[in-house]
Amino acid sequence: MPTSILKKAVLIALILFACQFANAQTVSVPENTPPEWSAPYQPFRIVGNLYYVGTYDLACYLITTSEGNILINTGLAASADMINKNIKTLGFKPADTRILLTTQAHFDHMAAMATIQRLTGAKMMVNRGDSSVVADGGKSDYALITTFEPVKINRILKNRDTVKLGTMRLVMLNHPGHTKGSCSFLFDVKDKQRSYRVLIANMPTIVTGKKFSEIPSYTGIASDYAYTLREMKKLSFDIWLASHTSQFELHKKHKPGDKYNPKAFMDKKGYDASLKDLQLQFSNKIKEK
Ligand SMILES: [Zn+2]
Repeated sequence: MPTSILKKAVLIALILFACQFANAQTVSVPENTPPEWSAPYQPFRIVGNLYYVGTYDLACYLITTSEGNILINTGLAASADMINKNIKTLGFKPADTRILLTTQAHFDHMAAMATIQRLTGAKMMVNRGDSSVVADGGKSDYALITTFEPVKINRILKNRDTVKLGTMRLVMLNHPGHTKGSCSFLFDVKDKQRSYRVLIANMPTIVTGKKFSEIPSYTGIASDYAYTLREMKKLSFDIWLASHTSQFELHKKHKPGDKYNPKAFMDKKGYDASLKDLQLQFSNKIKEK
């Protein structure tokens, strides 16, 4: 090979390598994410003006109002197109999204957020405890699961702050532990029959393999989980949803093409059982000395 071509080839290889490295620094998606995280699922109306627009397992929720829409959670980076397609399938416009929210700043709920924010110009509102992780794309996460594209934050929320759009009022509940700012949303929706109180809950699953006493970057982790479990047990609502569909057993409660049936998601029993199980996991975890 003549030296000029060889030089060019080496240069191209170097550039490709550098690009890859630059990418790896900002966004690193593990190869072995469960297939159901990115598998499609038919979008549907859950109750009133609340719709499911997520993947098979990574729950994303669209709340429509006369002043534009609210999107809660996004799934993996590659799922942005799927979420937009789901929104369109329901007859809404992704460009009408005004507010972006997340139940927790981990890549499986946040990684498409930056893309969707660029596309829509929507305002990202984040619970205070997750704000640094959202802004640095997961680099400062205590459990550093994996990174994602950083997202510009427009408003920092604190416990019981209200997110308003049109006639909708969402109350953000601080439920830390899973991440420092994981949170749930409580709000009312109506259909022709009645009004429903909806809880989109971030269930306090334990994500770290380390002992709680060995996490210097999150010394309050044990008391945060204890607080969250205590607070979540007190909540009352009609409909319960969560960050992962597996957590509230969406696929047992709903099949693609099912008729509108909000009652399928009225499952306080399932919620209580799930919290009981999480309480047990927490109690076992804090015994690790
Ligand atoms: Zn998570």
